[in-house]
Amino acid sequence: MDLGIRGKSALVCAGSKGLGRGCAEALAAAGVDLILNARGTEALEATAAAIRAAYKVSVVTVAADITSDAGRAQVLEAAGAVDILVTNAGGPPPGVWSDWQREDFIKALDANMLTPIALMTALLPGMIDAGWGRVINITSQSVKAPIAQLGLSNAARTGLTGYVAGTARQVAPHGVTINNLLPGIHDTDRAAALDAGVMKAEGISADEARARRAATIPARRYGTAAEFGAACAFLCSVHAGFIVGQNILLDGGATNATI
Ligand code: NAP
Repeated sequence: MDLGIRGKSALVCAGSKGLGRGCAEALAAAGVDLILNARGTEALEATAAAIRAAYKVSVVTVAADITSDAGRAQVLEAAGAVDILVTNAGGPPPGVWSDWQREDFIKALDANMLTPIALMTALLPGMIDAGWGRVINITSQSVKAPIAQLGLSNAARTGLTGYVAGTARQVAPHGVTINNLLPGIHDTDRAAALDAGVMKAEGISADEARARRAATIPARRYGTAAEFGAACAFLCSVHAGFIVGQNILLDGGATNATI
């Protein structure tokens, strides 16, 4: 299917690895020029080079912490007006409710709620002026069903979800859509880090931790960044203009809910 977005531009945040990279690759495969961000230069440049070589699109890199004011300003200056925004950042650490203090919540809210909101505030006006735009926020399945040890994530991402629910309806008349993609377990560094925590806590091997987690997923496996990216690119396509303010689970059936 031709996604109809060849020649458009996208800012993909936190996109040197994992799900962000999956989105960047799928958009590049559809002919979209990229502004690609992550903190670490090495992986960022390697990913950008691989994408340029594979898809012959322009990739401008900005090494910066997207959750800081200074980093975001740097990224937004390089991006200018873009047609597509994919928001993403690292997730908060796991823990226990009784350990989390105000500062922990502020950090999580900054990274996973206020950063995507600041990016939308900066870039939505240009999309509205152009009469077309797409925003995808990478959130989490924890928005639909809480993951107890990820309480900081549950809290921050639910706040973002509430914001998107209203804002998506305010910008839709201008041809701009905002939707959230909710990953369940995907095969990325983040999943490996969470598995390492289980491994340590329960004294089991990495393979066992992974097998146990996979067994809880009806698809009996972890998702891939490529699958995730393909869903992102479709939501950014010309075919998805009637999909507004949705929260789309990509979890292999892990969230046991009827709707
Ligand atoms: P990942 O494989 O660890 O990749 C994270 C990417 O984000 C890297 O490119 C990293 O590069 C970049 N990054 C992290 N913090 C950043 C920051 N402050 N500023 C700019 N770039 C940053 O993670 P992932 O699995 O793709 O996860 C992406 C998001 O989805 C996270 O919020 C995660 O919590 C959420 N999620 C993931 C899963 C899963 O199973 N994978 C499930 C549910 C939710 P640098 O480190 O070089 O900056």
